[in-house]
Amino acid sequence: MAKQTKKCAFCGRNADDVELLISGLEAHICERCAEKAKSIVDEEKAQEEKKRIPSFKLFKPAEIKKHLDQYVIGQEDAKKVLSVAVYNHYKRINYASPNDDEVDGVELEKSNIVLVGETGTGKTLMARTIAKKMKVPFCIADATVLTEAGYVGEDVESILVRLLQVADYNVAAAERGIVFIDELDKIARKSDNPSITRDVSGEGVQQALLKLLEGSVVNVPPQGGRKHPEQKMIQINTQKILFICGGAFDGIERKIMSRMKANAIGYGANKTGQIDRDNMLQYVAPQDLKSYGLIPELVGRLPVLSYLNPLDIKALRLILTEPKNSLIRQYTKLFEMDNKRLVIDDNVLDYIVEKAVEFKLGARGLRSICELIMLDAMYEIPSSDNVAGDFHLTLDYAQQRLDKSKIGRLRVAS
Ligand code: ADP
Repeated sequence: MAKQTKKCAFCGRNADDVELLISGLEAHICERCAEKAKSIVDEEKAQEEKKRIPSFKLFKPAEIKKHLDQYVIGQEDAKKVLSVAVYNHYKRINYASPNDDEVDGVELEKSNIVLVGETGTGKTLMARTIAKKMKVPFCIADATVLTEAGYVGEDVESILVRLLQVADYNVAAAERGIVFIDELDKIARKSDNPSITRDVSGEGVQQALLKLLEGSVVNVPPQGGRKHPEQKMIQINTQKILFICGGAFDGIERKIMSRMKANAIGYGANKTGQIDRDNMLQYVAPQDLKSYGLIPELVGRLPVLSYLNPLDIKALRLILTEPKNSLIRQYTKLFEMDNKRLVIDDNVLDYIVEKAVEFKLGARGLRSICELIMLDAMYEIPSSDNVAGDFHLTLDYAQQRLDKSKIGRLRVAS
């Protein structure tokens, strides 16, 4: 009887025609089919992974605050409020049944957050830092580019598309993510009285946002862009997405002041105690957001409200060196990779802060100023002979570099 040649049980190729034939108990598989099988298994596993509901560790408010402390300078009130709100939010998700918000018959409502404070004071930084700690998908949306459906601009659903992309299209993960909506104040109604000047577009966007914030199932075009009738949609439930909104609310101090004055008359002036007029934001209340032009329904969906302090010289100086990933630490690391130890005189740090204040650039400007000062060194050092040693940054050097550069540009950029 002729000896039967071994062949791949999947593609049928003979042993002579393949590079490798792996033998099983009763059959064989060639290298090509084995690779194909592996890719099918991987694909299936990836699909399963996308359906998996991510579990996350629930951190106590004090743990969240401690983590924030490592990255965010000052802003004690906001950090505390945010830590409690985030803890409650994820506690609610962990304990509630998958399809509603009830825990033992008690409905726990979602508490989205609004942070009021000048630009560049740490609102986005806080939201991002918390999302990283919770290991949940995070995205930033700019309220100013949002429009009502049908108008030129981005539909509010585009926010969810971004979140979905960050979550690598794992819908379950996206549904537990955090969205930071910046510049909420820019979609405020321009007048307090809707019947006089009706700013329809701003109000329309607010209405659309409201739908997301209050928790609803939204059809999202997976690749973003406009919806087409024939396009396959992904459904996202926003019930468990935490929305953190931020805005500078320029001039809201006046609204706060007039409300407090009105109250003072109503309840007796001496009961209100001393008012710190230099930092009125600390007294911000939901009705001030309404007076500013947010529709009451939206304010109602943002029950957690806190404020950020403007950054003074002391805070800016700390921001340079103290956070875990502070600018100076980052530069030190970059220089270290080129075999240089970065030594910076203290008065250089004071000078950087001074310039950031002078040019009204706030914390964001610190980076631009550092870049200008370090540019030449960062250009030259990598091409030098790579001799280990110090790079000593003196005040003279910093001043020279900054004078040489077109720092005036920064003023425009701000
Ligand atoms: P915004 O309040 O406009 O959202 P950001 O959080 O984006 O401001 O701050 C801009 C940058 O300034 C941050 O990436 C961070 O480097 C720095 N920064 C601002 N505020 C702080 C702060 N309180 N502590 C540490 N860094 C800060």
